[in-house]
This record gives sequence, structure tokens and C-alpha cells, in this order.
Amino acid sequence: MARKQPAESKCESCLNSLTSCLDRGVKYVGPFFVALAVILILLDVYTFFKHVVTEIVRQSGLMVACVHVAWSLWLLFNVFWNQMHCTFTSPGTTLEVREEALQSAMTYDWRWCRKCNRGKPPLAHHCSVCNRCVLKMDHHCVWMANCVGFNNYRFFVLFLFYMWMGSLYSAVVFWLHVPGLSRLDDMGGDSRGLLPFFMFVLSCSIWMAMCVLFGWHVWLVLTGQGTIDYLDNSSRAAEARAAGRRWVNPYHLGAAANWRETFDVWGPWWWLTWVLPSRRRKLGNGYDIKKVSPKDLPPGQDMVFQGI
Ligand SMILES: [Zn+2]
Ligand SMILES: [Zn+2]
Repeated sequence: MARKQPAESKCESCLNSLTSCLDRGVKYVGPFFVALAVILILLDVYTFFKHVVTEIVRQSGLMVACVHVAWSLWLLFNVFWNQMHCTFTSPGTTLEVREEALQSAMTYDWRWCRKCNRGKPPLAHHCSVCNRCVLKMDHHCVWMANCVGFNNYRFFVLFLFYMWMGSLYSAVVFWLHVPGLSRLDDMGGDSRGLLPFFMFVLSCSIWMAMCVLFGWHVWLVLTGQGTIDYLDNSSRAAEARAAGRRWVNPYHLGAAANWRETFDVWGPWWWLTWVLPSRRRKLGNGYDIKKVSPKDLPPGQDMVFQGI
């Protein structure tokens, strides 16, 4: 037994070194992914203006082309606006909050992070890539070179939304307005058609990926969960079911309320204004999060809180 201990420790330390190497890799590769996304989007825009806009002017006139240009610029602006804000906005971490403020907000469902040496609120997770506890953490995004959490999650979802719209628009206009693209047999040997064809295939692929990713995050927002918490919640629900109880997510305030809370939109036009670019600081602090009170639950439903 005494001889086995060092072997296990060695194995553990190998695993730790491998994990920390991977974390460092994810951290350093992030800016290249951001740059790659920007280059591909700009290449799509270049192809659109070079091949599609000139063809629309020829086929439908200048006015119709102006409408297409205005719409494509609106999509492009929003894609970059949300990408840049998601990348350069801090997701919100416990290290940015005064220690006294954290201590006074601490309740029974908080945990303790030994790495940050601070309290860890519900829905916060320690990111091994950023080496900090991120408030309301969704995931660490290599395409944004940043953690996605309380402050920048809305930019992330809006980026997915505008990428979904933009790639669909791009694929449709390339298909309709690039001569020969809808007749693939005619494309052979014409080098002028290769770039539009490549961008068309790329747009279709991105659109399909966005259908899955954006759809997934819409469902998460509507059900009041984050990506990491979804896994925890699933196991809590299974445990409650096995015990003959029904688990209720205490952070699910209702679909519309979750949406308003996530995008920080209020007033009668919230269902429309959530898509607009906004730099306003998100309301709230990320550690004192609104949740359903047990007394508001319908009769016959139990609630299992975070941390239990
Ligand atoms: Zn931590
Ligand atoms: Zn991170």
C-alpha cells in the first residue's frame, strides 16, 4: 500500500500537467480562432460585393441592390458588434467583486473555491483556462477567446443569432444571383466561380451549425439554464425522480422572464428590442441571482436547491 501511493501520485501529476497544457493551448489558440472567424466573414463580404451586388444591379436595378447592401451591412455590423463585445467584455468574476460584498451575500448554497480562495456563488464555476471563478458561467469559448458568463452571454447569443441570419442570407443570395451556381455542371474550369461556390458551401455549413447551436442556446435561455448547469440539473432531476419527487429549477422564472433577464430588455417592446445592439452595463451583479421562491410553486411540486 505504501509503495502504491507514489505511483498514483505520479499518474495524477501527469494528468494534471496534461490538463494544464491543454488549458494553456486553449488560451493561446483563442486569438487565432477569433482572427480566423473575422477573415472568413470578411471574405464572404468581399465575395458578396464582387459577385452578388454587381449581378443584382444588372438583374434588378440600383434600388434593389441598395436594399440588399443596407440589409447585409446591418447583419455584418451586428455580427462584429456582438463578437467584439463578447470577446472584450469580462464575463464577470468573483475576483472583480469586493471580498466584503461577496461575504455579506453568501448563503447556505454557496461553495468555496480553493483556487480563488473566495466564495463561489450558485451558477459560478471555476474556469481552468482563465483560472478564475466566472459568474453565471456558460462555457469557455475558444471562438471568442473568452469565458462566456453573466456580463457577455447576451452578446454570445446575439452573435449566434446574427450568424444564423447572415449565413442563411448569404447562401440564398449566392444561390439566386451568382450565374452558374445553381447549375453546378457549368462551374467546371471557371476559376471566377470557385470563390462564390466555396462561400456558398461555407455559408450552408455555418447555417446548419448555427441552427443547432443557436437553437440549443434559445432552449437554455427559455428554461433558465446554462450549458454547464444543464448537466448538473439533469442529474438532480434524475435523483429527484428516483426519490419520487419532481425537481424544479429555482432559476427558471418563466420563458419570457428568462429572456428579458438574459438580454436585459424591459418595457412593452422587449420582444423586439432584444436584437438591438446595446452597450449598457447589464443590470444585477451576477452573484445575487433572482430565483423562484418555494412558496410560489404549484401544489405538489418540490424544489431541490443548488448545492444539495
Ligand atoms: Zn475559482
Ligand atoms: Zn475561461
